Amino acid sequence: MRTTPVSDSQINFGLEDDHPHEECGVIGIFAPNEDVARMTFFGLYALQHRGQEAAGMAVADGQIMSIHKGVGLVSQVFTPNAMVDLKGHYAIGHTRYSTTGSSSLRNAQPFMIETIHGPLALAHNGNLINSAELRNELMGQGVGFSSSSDTEVMTMMLARNSEGTWEERIKHAMKKWIGAYSVVILTRDCVYAVRDPWGFRPLCIGLLPSGGHAVASETGALQTLGCETIRDVKPGEVVSLSNSALKVMQAVAPVEPSSMCVFEHIYFARPDQTWDGINVHHVRQRLGEELAWEVANGLFHGITDVNGFERMADVVIPVPDSSVPAAIGFSHVSGIPYNDGFIKNRYVGRTFIEPTDSLRKRGVALKFNVINENIRDKRVMMIDDSIVRGNTTGPLVKLLRNAGAKEVHVAITCPPIAHPCFMGVDMGKHDDLIAHKRSVDEIRDYVDADNLYYLSVEGMMRALKRTDGFCQACFTGQYPISVDLSNVKTGFERVTK
Ligand code: SF4
Repeated sequence: MRTTPVSDSQINFGLEDDHPHEECGVIGIFAPNEDVARMTFFGLYALQHRGQEAAGMAVADGQIMSIHKGVGLVSQVFTPNAMVDLKGHYAIGHTRYSTTGSSSLRNAQPFMIETIHGPLALAHNGNLINSAELRNELMGQGVGFSSSSDTEVMTMMLARNSEGTWEERIKHAMKKWIGAYSVVILTRDCVYAVRDPWGFRPLCIGLLPSGGHAVASETGALQTLGCETIRDVKPGEVVSLSNSALKVMQAVAPVEPSSMCVFEHIYFARPDQTWDGINVHHVRQRLGEELAWEVANGLFHGITDVNGFERMADVVIPVPDSSVPAAIGFSHVSGIPYNDGFIKNRYVGRTFIEPTDSLRKRGVALKFNVINENIRDKRVMMIDDSIVRGNTTGPLVKLLRNAGAKEVHVAITCPPIAHPCFMGVDMGKHDDLIAHKRSVDEIRDYVDADNLYYLSVEGMMRALKRTDGFCQACFTGQYPISVDLSNVKTGFERVTK
């Protein structure tokens, strides 16, 4: 087993926006005729949007396993030198979202250890709700941990089981794992793709043109590798990638209906993503259309004085980038012309250079510039995908007013987020969520909008063209898994320990 040293010299002073944050993206590849490390690198590149704080990959050649991981973007972590030792035909990779500092490095994935059955590496997207109990159980058996991550708990559970085959050990562990997990596991001669029985986080399978298979959080990463997408890993399945044919085992029974995270469609995923036949771009466009219908019919929360679209606004603008399709949809239904109002610097949130105090005070103005000519003397309808803590919407409204907007109306393509996520999405705790503490009217006043509209849960489901199959707990408080709110840790707490 070889380990490449990692660097903790970089600290992200990121100017984060007010969105839920995905914990990560995962990829696994068996490529008998390719340089698997390079393929994994480009797959991770396509999953960069799912986590920008750390990246890593582990590669096996049938005997030896090598790993490299570090804090930073994929292109920063994987220099040409770092790739030299990553040889083989089996690989897993990971991009991670987390908070700042050394905990990022300690929790970077994959986790790799030597076991009695040979080397083992694991990378995880999600959050185990019962991680604390499982960790305590292992610690009681004398197992030590080097991180606060539930991924290390999962790795140790697999390593400690000396019975049977890897498939049997994975199946045994899945019976104890409660929560969200889309996992890729690497042994010296196989890649396993594993998905929790609720199907919270995505995982899809593709066929490589040169032979072999790949799995990834999003079909966009598979497309980048030239894969033909075959299907999703189904809830409760273990899929083995080690020869030309896939081996599929239904390790635990799927929970019906499934509970895929609806925020994958609203915000996280790239718009070219398609899961279960539903394309993300199309969903976002329909979210905007549904929102426009609800506004027109006065169905939105707390507002009752709209008299038709022509009296509402002169221009519809998105908060780039994820709200662009929704703004187009809103414009189609309302007839209000679409235009760009903000230009986003896509890189400023990823800087490793700390801003000066005077620059930091500029807040969202460091990230967004306004096209004044498109805004001046206009009544603006600003479309955004979510409000979490409420610390960005107000400054964006102010930017538009400073640019000469006569009125600023804000329309959000999801319902108010009033409950935290325990399934691996960083939204903070109850008290961090502005919709937990304030009514819609109070939020409207807080962000200084002329009107504030949220899409209803029903409108959101109409946009998805489904009546069930999605987790909506952060809107409704109805968790698909029973959670002890006084005891359980959110993903956010987990990564800041
Ligand atoms: S609570 Fe919200 S963010 Fe978390 S899995 Fe459910 S829908 Fe996704």
